Amino acid sequence: MRVAQGWERSTILVLMGDLVENCLHSEGLRVSTGSDYRCPVCEEIMDIDGVGRWVQDAERCRDEAYSVVEGDGFGEIVREELQREVYRRRRVMYELENVPRVVTARPEMILIIHDAAKASYGCRIFYKAPRPAGVVEQVNVGAVLERILELRSDPDPVVRLISEKVEEFHAFRSNLSAGGAPAPERRVFYANEL
Ligand SMILES: [Zn+2]
Repeated sequence: MRVAQGWERSTILVLMGDLVENCLHSEGLRVSTGSDYRCPVCEEIMDIDGVGRWVQDAERCRDEAYSVVEGDGFGEIVREELQREVYRRRRVMYELENVPRVVTARPEMILIIHDAAKASYGCRIFYKAPRPAGVVEQVNVGAVLERILELRSDPDPVVRLISEKVEEFHAFRSNLSAGGAPAPERRVFYANEL
């Protein structure tokens, strides 16, 4: 790794200063009274617009780092760090936005169809009628373990469940294919398997 030039290092530290000066709300935010959210560390209270601005602050720091920093080992590390912070804050925001639906949705059945042409899995998620509002009904994911596992960190528990079931079906199909046997192209998971 090449050693960063002094001015680059200080420029980056100024950019990061914006982020570290205040509490990073590193433990995430909790639902507070009414439609407000609260940081359990510093006790700051904010509404959803405030959370949005908090996400934008991290995006701005990242963008500014991109515009001033040349390709360089140190700058690269800082940019990655700032990008991670953007992702983390977005995740916190999405989770807060999804709080009500997280507790209501429970799938009744999941149908997974392997699409050989697209090298992907298409999943249909069925719920007991009447279907709860705002639930995930369809998920498509590439037929690669890495893509499937990415869904595990989704804020929606139904999508995380999909990840588990697709992983199971994918492993089953891969084993058969490795042994030279034809693998099934579809699988239904019923409520007792979910
Ligand atoms: Zn805080």
